[in-house]
Amino acid sequence: MICKLCHSKHAENISFMTLFRPELLCPSCQKKYIPHDSVEIIPFTDGWIEYHSLMDIVEENPSIKKYLFRFMRTYFTEWMKSPSDNLILIIDDDEYNRFELWFPVIRGFSPLYFYSVTYYDWSVYPDNLF
Ligand SMILES: [Zn+2]
Repeated sequence: MICKLCHSKHAENISFMTLFRPELLCPSCQKKYIPHDSVEIIPFTDGWIEYHSLMDIVEENPSIKKYLFRFMRTYFTEWMKSPSDNLILIIDDDEYNRFELWFPVIRGFSPLYFYSVTYYDWSVYPDNLF
């Protein structure tokens, strides 16, 4: 098989159980990209942001990010089970890079809930923005 992320070849033991569900990622990528909920609280003047990321890694490759987005279904399922009136934002590169522009618009909502697949470092933004 060829790994969907790193394109390396990997061998797989095919059995009747795995015949129609082949492993799409190599063992190395399976170890590197393990989804788990990581939570960070970011306080600001009028409230706080609860930031969830599925992976603690910073990933630059857009095709890998696109593939990993399928793991967001974990959060989607959670939101469907317990809908709320909270403001939830899914963060990707566009939202992160333009955060300075749109944060004043959403500042009135608190708490804010941010979700992303890979980790974004919010400490790069100056404290006076929040
Ligand atoms: Zn791989």
